[in-house]
Amino acid sequence: MRPAWVEIDLAQLRENFRLINQDKQPQLQILSVVKNNAYGHGAVEVAGAAIASGVWGLAVVTIDEAISLRERDIRAPILLLGERMPEELPACLHYDLIPCINEAKKAVMYAELALKAGRRAPIHVEVDTGMSRYGVRWEKALPLLLELFKLENLTVAGIMSHFAMSDEKDKSFALLQLSRFNSVLQRIENAGLPMPLRHMCNSGGYLDLPRAHFDMVRLGILPLGVYPSAVCRRIPGIRPVMAVKTRIVAIQHLQPGDCVGYGMRYQARRAHPIAVLPIGYGDGFPRVRNTGSVLIRGRRAPIVGGNAMDATMVDITEIPEAGVGDEAVLMGSQGKEQISAHEIASWKSSVSYDILVGWRSRLPRRFLDERRSE
Ligand SMILES: *Cc1c(COP(=O)(O)O)cnc(C)c1O
Repeated sequence: MRPAWVEIDLAQLRENFRLINQDKQPQLQILSVVKNNAYGHGAVEVAGAAIASGVWGLAVVTIDEAISLRERDIRAPILLLGERMPEELPACLHYDLIPCINEAKKAVMYAELALKAGRRAPIHVEVDTGMSRYGVRWEKALPLLLELFKLENLTVAGIMSHFAMSDEKDKSFALLQLSRFNSVLQRIENAGLPMPLRHMCNSGGYLDLPRAHFDMVRLGILPLGVYPSAVCRRIPGIRPVMAVKTRIVAIQHLQPGDCVGYGMRYQARRAHPIAVLPIGYGDGFPRVRNTGSVLIRGRRAPIVGGNAMDATMVDITEIPEAGVGDEAVLMGSQGKEQISAHEIASWKSSVSYDILVGWRSRLPRRFLDERRSE
C-alpha cells in the first residue's frame, strides 16, 4: 500500500537475456551473477529468467544467498564467488555448491569432508592476475593446481580470474591481466591437466574484451539492463529492468524567504510550489542537498534542500499542473525523460552498482510481467 516502491520489469529482463544470447558466440556459456539479491532485483526472479534463457549456472557470494536459492528448488549449478572460511565448507557440500578454493590446506580439508560424505566435490580455482583480492597469485597457480589434481575427492572443474578495470576506455591493465591468465592456462595445457571451464569476464569484459571470453562469462549488471560504464559497447534494445517510483503526498506553497527541510539548506527567493515525496535516504535514495531531480509528468523537478530519512522535496515551478497523487519517478523513465542509476550515482560520486543494491527492502518490490506484443 505504501506510495513508494521498486518496479521490476520481468518482461524486459527476459528480453535482455534474449538479446545477450543473440549477441554472444553460440558456444559461450553464461554464469548469471545473482549475488546481493540480484543487485536488489530479486535473486529468485532473476535466476528464474536466467535459467529459462539457458545459462550454465548461477553465482552468489554468501552461503545464505545460495541456500535461499536451493530452498526455492533451484537446482542449477551455483558457484560461490569470493573466499570461504573453513567453517563454511560443510554447507558447500551439503547444498551442492561450488566454492572457489585457492590454497592447498583448505583443499585438503574440503577433500576430507567430501571423502566422509562419499562424494567427489567440484571446485573452481581463482587466479589473482592483478586485482589483489581473491585467488592464488598467477605465478604460483600451477604448483597449486598440481597439488589439487592429486586430491581424489575433489574435481577442479574450472578456473577463473577477475578484471580490476574492464569497462573503461583504457584497456591496458585488463590486457596485462589477460596475458597473465593466458600464461597460467598455457602452463596447465603443457602439464596436460584438463580444465573444462575457464572464465574471466564480468559484464564490462564481455562487452569489450572478446579475447577474454574463454568458455564462460559472469554477467551480473548487464542482464539487468544497466551498463557497467558510460563508455563500454552497447547492445541495442537492452534497457533497465528496475525503476523506483513514488507519489506526491503533499504540495507546499513557499513564500520568499521560506526554508525547506533539515538544516535549512534551501531558501526560496520567490514564491513557488514544491511537492513532497514520501521517500528518503532511509529507503536508499542518496542523501543529497539541492542536487539531482525526479520526474513528474515527464519533466524534471529539481530536489530542494536536504532530503530526510523518509521524505524528499522537489521544486515544481515548471510543472504547475502537478497534484497530490501524481506518480514521481526517482529512477527510470517517464515520457521522454530518464534518470539512470549512473546519474543518481554521480550525485554522490559513486557507481551504478551501489545505487541498484542500495534500495532497501523497506520499499516493496512490484514485479511486472506483461507479455510484450512486439
Ligand atoms: C560481481 C561479480 C561479477 C559480475 O560483475 P558485473 O559487472 O555485474 O557483470 C563477476 N565476477 C565476479 C568475481 C564478481 O564478484
